[in-house]
Amino acid sequence: MRAAYISQNGELDCIQVGEVPDPEPAHDEVVIAVRAAALNHLDIWVRKGRPGLELCFPHVLGSDAAGTVVAKGRQVDSVHIGDEVVLNPGLSCGVCEYCLRGEHSECLYYGIIGMNRPGTFAERIAVPAVNVQPAPPHLSYTEAAALPLAYLTAWRMLMSRGNLKGGETVLIHGIGGGVAIAGLQLARLAGAEVIVTSSSEEKLARARGLGASEAINYGTNPDVAAAVKDLTGGRGVDLILDSVGAATWPINFGAIRRGGRIVHCGVTTGARTQADISALYWNHVSVIGSTMGSREEFRQMVRAVGIARLKPVIDSVLPLVDAANAVGRMERGEQFGKIVLDIKGAFTESVAA
Ligand SMILES: [Zn+2]
Repeated sequence: MRAAYISQNGELDCIQVGEVPDPEPAHDEVVIAVRAAALNHLDIWVRKGRPGLELCFPHVLGSDAAGTVVAKGRQVDSVHIGDEVVLNPGLSCGVCEYCLRGEHSECLYYGIIGMNRPGTFAERIAVPAVNVQPAPPHLSYTEAAALPLAYLTAWRMLMSRGNLKGGETVLIHGIGGGVAIAGLQLARLAGAEVIVTSSSEEKLARARGLGASEAINYGTNPDVAAAVKDLTGGRGVDLILDSVGAATWPINFGAIRRGGRIVHCGVTTGARTQADISALYWNHVSVIGSTMGSREEFRQMVRAVGIARLKPVIDSVLPLVDAANAVGRMERGEQFGKIVLDIKGAFTESVAA
């Protein structure tokens, strides 16, 4: 089968498209014929290499996918050949203390498809049967493939870890990336008001079109915390969704209300920074970490998207052979929404068709 893979860690030019062996399902796995696969920043981390991460080369990249089940192991009863599914990329052991609590993304052995086993930028992929959910019928394969990692991450950040309530105000940094846009759409779904930031007027305008009530250009207005305070009558926001890291950490303590929650999921601008800790305890601020989500949170997110007929924001759709160009676009931060690889050349076809 064809796939986009790397044979060594490195820069963009190490992404190749070619033939790799077909996957065989284990007894508790299914094989998905991948119709579309979306990109995530994780693809960049995996390609460049991370301390402690040992890849088995050639390593197929990609964590998000939507497609059709075409084979299954002998112990799989819950999923059937022909099912149109969306993939939960989280891998958990199922038996550790955290899995038994239902907190699969806290698993002691947590891994992600595309990082700890072969990924989705391929015509077929074998995955545990517990990792697939029926795709929402109102979505095309392209749209369904855009959901898993970003929308699951944002769902857990807002709903579970952030305990978001309707009527609250959320600040989302760096609108344009997958988790930030997913956060905007899901926060609006929950009845929250959303303030976004970007240095691109075009991205801010598009965020307003998705329901952001206020948009701060940090290029022309670098004191984001003061701007947020102005926009909230001096109070600050209830919740901050931060996938940016070092650049935004100091801003957060000036933009959060007393007793507010700051939820972090990533460090696209770096992991090392400084902060005034007195602003933390004096203002009763909670700083909360979050990664991906549990199986139940994935089910909730996919179901909520289906009930609300929410459409994930797609930046662009490229063929598998353009995988390196697609990753390059993401690496340069040019995208607004998810970049999706069309694996089967049928990305306008409805999942329900
Ligand atoms: Zn576990």
